[in-house]
Amino acid sequence: MCKIIAVSNQKGGVGKTTTAVNLGMGLAREGKKVLLVDADSQGDLSICLGNENPDELDYTMATILEEIIGGDPYDIKEAIYHHEEGVDYIPCNIELSGVEVLMVNAMRREYLLKQVLGKVKDQYDYIIIDCSPSLGMVTINALACADSVIIPVQAELLSTKGLGQLIRTINEVKENEINPFLHIDGILMTMVDEKTLIFREIFPKLEESYGQTIRIFNSRIPKSVRASELPILGISIYNHDPDGKVALAYKDLVGEVLENA
Ligand code: ATP
Ligand code: MG
Repeated sequence: MCKIIAVSNQKGGVGKTTTAVNLGMGLAREGKKVLLVDADSQGDLSICLGNENPDELDYTMATILEEIIGGDPYDIKEAIYHHEEGVDYIPCNIELSGVEVLMVNAMRREYLLKQVLGKVKDQYDYIIIDCSPSLGMVTINALACADSVIIPVQAELLSTKGLGQLIRTINEVKENEINPFLHIDGILMTMVDEKTLIFREIFPKLEESYGQTIRIFNSRIPKSVRASELPILGISIYNHDPDGKVALAYKDLVGEVLENA
């Protein structure tokens, strides 16, 4: 059975893309068949997988969604690319921002991504969707087709502020029957420096506010220059810095996600 996980937080720059890539690559290293989905017009996941300029790609998630909305035939296989570290992925680029406008008037507009992924779901153990920093229609589509959500939160003051809004949106998706089975896998602390005052202040507050109702992953992703180099290299942390603290932390996260299956 395939599990679809959306990595989402409308706050920008909290480590969604880095988490989607390294969780996906980590699951592939454990022998799982993984599809990574770029659901962000910035195309950052596509960049992190080695496409320096995603805007030059002809066939992406944006193309497929546009074809569905237009009622045109599409071949999802054309949009599935392969990364040498053993994952498949559907890239995305700036064209998605135009398509998102069209989505608003589409039939069954919340379920377009579900329709796309439904075609390939049986070929994968995990599909991981890298959401954009927004709660727009594409993110709603991701929440509509996901089994669960992982919420990366950066250990800094302003990063925790929007969390309430995100959780309300997830609850609305459930209550409005868009996806009654959606659940939150957990909150993942990212770019953590445990020595800093800010971490020591934020972490207990997060536990106090959400810890009763939402799991906070035991794995915390440390801040490291090595991790910040990944988008230029187009490879995973396991390849770039295999013995480093970020690789170890993402391996722990992979373990927690597998336990959760
Ligand atoms: P956006 O909201 O724009 O999609 P995001 O939430 O996907 O951003 P990332 O792109 O994963 O966040 O990370 C933001 C920046 O922080 C990137 O430059 C990334 O390389 C860097 N970064 C991510 N994780 C770490 C880390 N553990 N240590 C240091 N830098 C990191
Ligand atoms: Mg991103």
